[in-house]
Amino acid sequence: MLTKEVYEKYSAEAAKYLEKAGIAITEKERAEIQVAEYDLGCVEKIGLELVVYVNTERCCAKELVLLPNQTCPEHRHPAIDGKPGKEETFRCRYGKVYLYVEGEPVEKTQVAPPEGEEQYFTCKHEIVLNPGEQYTIMPNTLHWFKAGEEGAVVSEFSTKSMDEFDIYTDPRINAAGKRNV
Ligand code: ZN
Repeated sequence: MLTKEVYEKYSAEAAKYLEKAGIAITEKERAEIQVAEYDLGCVEKIGLELVVYVNTERCCAKELVLLPNQTCPEHRHPAIDGKPGKEETFRCRYGKVYLYVEGEPVEKTQVAPPEGEEQYFTCKHEIVLNPGEQYTIMPNTLHWFKAGEEGAVVSEFSTKSMDEFDIYTDPRINAAGKRNV
């Protein structure tokens, strides 16, 4: 559980990064920035901040902020009721994002999973996104991502987000029911 103090610190920090990326949000959106910490209690290393623009039956758009070295834990979006899972496109707006998906592993990844959590980060096929670069993750494909030293702002365009069905590699996150991306 995030305390009010921690929530305020991280949402304020995220707002600064959105500004650095030149992304305007309304006061209401600012007040509704979400801080995902997956109930793990280590938001400085496993966590991220989000602004949800839209999430309808068919489309979803979000802004994701990863503070320096913050990591989104490995997960996939499975099919639900015979419908394909979420397809998502990540476009880097600021900083650098190290994205790892299923596939041919690289010999040495450029960033490491959060210390002590390595067992829950199995994908080693590396995609590095700089501002203006993007990558599309097809449904039910395992993925995780981490910001570099200067943090990152990432626009996410996707089909409907149904976070409650996402499957994380770390069983503690599934048990806690805290899912966001
Ligand atoms: Zn995802």
